[in-house]
Amino acid sequence: MAEMEQLIERVPKKLFIGGAWLDAASGKTDTVINPATGEKIAEVASGSTEDAKRAVVAGQQAFPAWASLDIDKRVAILRAMADAIISHADELARIMTIEQGKPVAQAKGEVLAGAESVRWYAEEARRVYGETIPGPNGHLLLVQKEPLGVIGAITPWNFPSSMITRKISPAIATGNTVVLKPSPETPLSALALMDLFAKAGLPDGVVNLVTGDAPAIGKVLTESNVIRKLTFTGSTAVGKLLAEQSAQTVKKVSLELGGHAPFIIFEDADLDRAAADLVATKFRNNGQVCTSPNRIFVHESVLQPFTEKLVTLVKQVKVGNGLTEDVDAGPLIREDAIVKIQRQIADAEEKGAVIRTGGKRLTEGAYANGYFYAPTVLSGVTREMKIFYEETFGPVLPVISFHDTDEVLAMANDTLYGLASYFYTADLKRIAKVSQGLQYGMVGVNSGVVAYPQAPFGGTKHSGFGRENGHQGIEDYVNIKFVNLNYSL
Ligand code: NAP
Repeated sequence: MAEMEQLIERVPKKLFIGGAWLDAASGKTDTVINPATGEKIAEVASGSTEDAKRAVVAGQQAFPAWASLDIDKRVAILRAMADAIISHADELARIMTIEQGKPVAQAKGEVLAGAESVRWYAEEARRVYGETIPGPNGHLLLVQKEPLGVIGAITPWNFPSSMITRKISPAIATGNTVVLKPSPETPLSALALMDLFAKAGLPDGVVNLVTGDAPAIGKVLTESNVIRKLTFTGSTAVGKLLAEQSAQTVKKVSLELGGHAPFIIFEDADLDRAAADLVATKFRNNGQVCTSPNRIFVHESVLQPFTEKLVTLVKQVKVGNGLTEDVDAGPLIREDAIVKIQRQIADAEEKGAVIRTGGKRLTEGAYANGYFYAPTVLSGVTREMKIFYEETFGPVLPVISFHDTDEVLAMANDTLYGLASYFYTADLKRIAKVSQGLQYGMVGVNSGVVAYPQAPFGGTKHSGFGRENGHQGIEDYVNIKFVNLNYSL
């Protein structure tokens, strides 16, 4: 335990503005809790309006030099940042597990995925191509892409490291500077990253971090004319509010919001493979993922064998403190996450759903002081139940029976969300029809994976707009400038 304390002790607990570690102007701090034990792990400076304004000024001051830095030097700094993450991956992973709860192997996977994002955008920085367009004789019609200025970035607690690298890498690769507001639930992962980046040579003020009072900091970032783009990952409710607040300053906005992913099993699917992929995808971060399968549609002819396979696998999911070897699922982030699940399950049971496994909070022994919930399978779920429409964000698999392709497409699309979707079948015609018919930003066909550094990640409808990852991820961070160059004079 002393080792853990030393690890946390080494993380700076202050705001990072203009390359300096600062206390909050108010002197206030926020307490960080370990969700597996309920214990306090740290007090971190709690920034507010004044701190956010200082961070915006720091970003503005750093912008001209960063935007005009030789591209080779910018690329070298991004590479050094990626190397720094990789060489500290084990400690970053443990810090994340202590404040967020996910098993340490998953935390390390997230840290390394973040490093891949930084690497990808280090490479992509040299490929921010423009265009030349045919024009009148003596004219060159040029299209150039230039940085926007200072970017405001707000990130959630469920991926405390990779959501940050996903946003700041394309932003700084294209010459922008950033004011980052991570979640106060998981500030230590963000602070540890900033410390590493500064030591890796990121110039002062290029990325500034202000954690603390979310509405106050959010207001500064949205209402400032200096901030030319706001990128947000989090709930749909907060995303709508931030979009509204941003309207007055006519800035670019990109929103990665909630999801309610369908996972469809057709009658010709490889049931063993589908069940194994479903459990692996669902219990990644214990279901606290925007792309997590939330509604499991199973063809009526394979409903019984598939549900049995699923229940068998879910019973094997080992729940515990993420620092313990062999744990598959950690705690949930907070008490209210448990309350939401209990409310959804009570409603479903009352309306006829059956709990096939789980269905209860875990409170005995090592679970006593944390936010643990048993991995759960519900069968007999219908459209009348809250869980059919509400994002769960926890370890619950609601199983819904269907009769044919048109019916399941209609049910899968019967949601305001449109982030990730998945289906399993061996029929090529059906693959074409269903992948076109799903109103989602991402579709996994016989695969439970939809996130890669090189592929566009994002949603439609109330899941937001804009894309992260891939070369598409660059486009939101640049301004298109047209230059009509008359060289005939
Ligand atoms: P959240 O409550 O919306 O919070 C996200 C971030 O916004 C946090 O840093 C939060 O700070 C901040 N925030 C809250 N109110 C704010 C305000 N008025 N102004 C400015 N910032 C504000 O979401 P969450 O519970 O942390 O995350 C879970 C949600 O994120 C789920 O719906 C999930 O689907 C979604 N998500 C989406 C993606 C994606 O890529 N589409 C990825 C991951 C998660 P506080 O914590 O202090 O409130």
